[in-house]
Amino acid sequence: MNLLHVNDKAGEYPASYYAATATKIAAFPPLKGQVSADVCIVGAGYTGLSAALHLARAGLDVVVVEAQRVGFGASGRNGGQVGSGQRLEQDALEKMAGRETARKLWDMGEEAKSLVRDLAKEMGLPFHAGVAHACYSDAEVRHAETYREKLAREYDYTQIEALPKGLIGSAAFKGGDLDKGAGHLHPLNFAIGLAQAAVAAGARIYERSEVHHIQHNLRSEVLTAHGRVSCNHVILAGNGYLSGLERKVAARVMPINNFIVATEPLGDRAAGILAENIAVADSKFVVNYWRLSDDKRLLFGGGESYGYKFPDVVKTVRKPMLEVYPQLRDVKIDYAWGGTLAITMNRMPCFLRAHPRVFSASGYSGHGVAMATLAGKLMAQAVQGQAGGFDVMAALPQPRFPGGTALRWPLLVAAMTWYGMRDRLGV
Ligand SMILES: Cc1cc2nc3c(=O)[nH]c(=O)nc-3n(C[C@H](O)[C@H](O)[C@H](O)COP(=O)(O)OP(=O)(O)OC[C@H]3O[C@@H](n4cnc5c(N)ncnc54)[C@H](O)[C@@H]3O)c2cc1C
Repeated sequence: MNLLHVNDKAGEYPASYYAATATKIAAFPPLKGQVSADVCIVGAGYTGLSAALHLARAGLDVVVVEAQRVGFGASGRNGGQVGSGQRLEQDALEKMAGRETARKLWDMGEEAKSLVRDLAKEMGLPFHAGVAHACYSDAEVRHAETYREKLAREYDYTQIEALPKGLIGSAAFKGGDLDKGAGHLHPLNFAIGLAQAAVAAGARIYERSEVHHIQHNLRSEVLTAHGRVSCNHVILAGNGYLSGLERKVAARVMPINNFIVATEPLGDRAAGILAENIAVADSKFVVNYWRLSDDKRLLFGGGESYGYKFPDVVKTVRKPMLEVYPQLRDVKIDYAWGGTLAITMNRMPCFLRAHPRVFSASGYSGHGVAMATLAGKLMAQAVQGQAGGFDVMAALPQPRFPGGTALRWPLLVAAMTWYGMRDRLGV
C-alpha cells in the first residue's frame, strides 16, 4: 500500500502555497493494459523524474508510473532549500567513510547543486542564492566558524561567510553563517519542470497508477491495478511513500512527516523578517526553516511526526514560528500542509541494488532537493553501465532500523522525543 495520509486526497495535490502557485499542467493518463519499455521508474518526484529525464536524453525508452500526481510527494511540498554538501558535515563523513570518500561525497554534493541550478535555468525557474544557518548559542556559532574554515582549507569551498548582522529580523540568534553557493526555489514547479523536460525528451508518464507488485522473469514486470510494464530495468523512486514495495529498502529507510505554513502576504513588514531573499535553517535538532515567497509571505517549516496521521499543522508550526518571530503574532496563516520525507539511521541516503535489474535510492534525510535530483542521474548512468557514482553512495554503511518495519516507528518516536526535549532544554 502506498503511504497516503488521512489529510491527503488520492490523486490530488494537497492544498499548499505551492499547489496554489504551480505551473498548470494537464494530468497524465493512468496506466492501462500492457506496455513495454527499457526502464520503468516507480515514483515521480525528483528522483524518478531526474532518472527519467537523463535516461530519455540518452535515448532509452522510459516509463514513469506514479501513484498520485507528479511532485505529489515530498518533492512538491518541501522547503525548497538546495543545500551544499551532504546532510552530514564533512567531519562526520570523514569518520564514517575516510577522507578520500568524504571528498568524493562533498564533490557529489556540489555536482548535485549545479545540476539543480542548471536544470532550473533550463526550465526558466528562478533559483535564489543564499541559505543562512542560524545559531542559538555561542558554542554553535564557534562550531559554525570552525567548520567554515575547514571547508575553505580542506575542501576549497569559500562561499560561506559569517552571518551578516541584521539579515534575520529576530533576536533569537547569536550568529551563524550564510552560504552563498546554496539557494532556494519553488519545489513543485521544479518537479513539474522536470516532468515536462522528461516528456519532451521522450519519456512516458502515467499518474494515478500505484505499483503494487514487481516480479522478475526473463524481463521485469511492474504491476498496477489496471496495467503492467514489461522492462529490462526498474528504478525505485518512491522514497517516503514507497512503503513495503521493497523490503530491503523498508528495513533501512523510514518515512517521517514534516510541516510548513504560509502566512498571509506581509507587505512592508517582510523586510523586517528577512532583509534579503535568502532561506534560513536554524540549529535545532528538529530543524526550523523559512524564507519569503515571491508575494512576501513567510513560508515557515518545522515539527515532525510519525505514522499516517498528521497533527494540527498550524498549531505545530506556529509555535516555533512565533519563538523566532514573536512580532508575527497577529498574522494570519493562509496555508498549512505536511509531507512525508524519508530518513536513514546514519542520515546518508540509501542507494542499493534490490535485484540485479533494480536500482533504488531514497532516505535523503531532509537534504533531498539536490541529492534526489543527482540520485536520479546516477541511477540513469548505472542503468547504462556506468555505476561509478552510484557505487560510491551504495558503499556507505546502510544500517537497518532496529525493531524492523513494525517496531521502528515506536523506537524512533522514543528517540526523537528525547532529542526534541534536548532542543527545548537547550542542551
Ligand atoms: C515538508 C518537507 C520539507 C522538506 N524540506 C527540504 C528542503 O528544504 N531541502 C531539501 O533538500 N529537502 C527537503 N525535504 C526533503 C525532500 O523534499 C526529499 O528528499 C525529496 O523531495 C525526495 O524526492 P523523491 O523523488 O525521492 O521522493 P518524493 O518526492 O516523495 O516522490 C516519491 C513519489 O513516489 C510515488 N510512489 C511511492 N510509492 C509508489 C508506488 N508503489 N507506485 C507508484 N508511485 C509511488 C509517490 O506518490 C511520490 O510521488 C523536505 C521534505 C518535506 C516533506
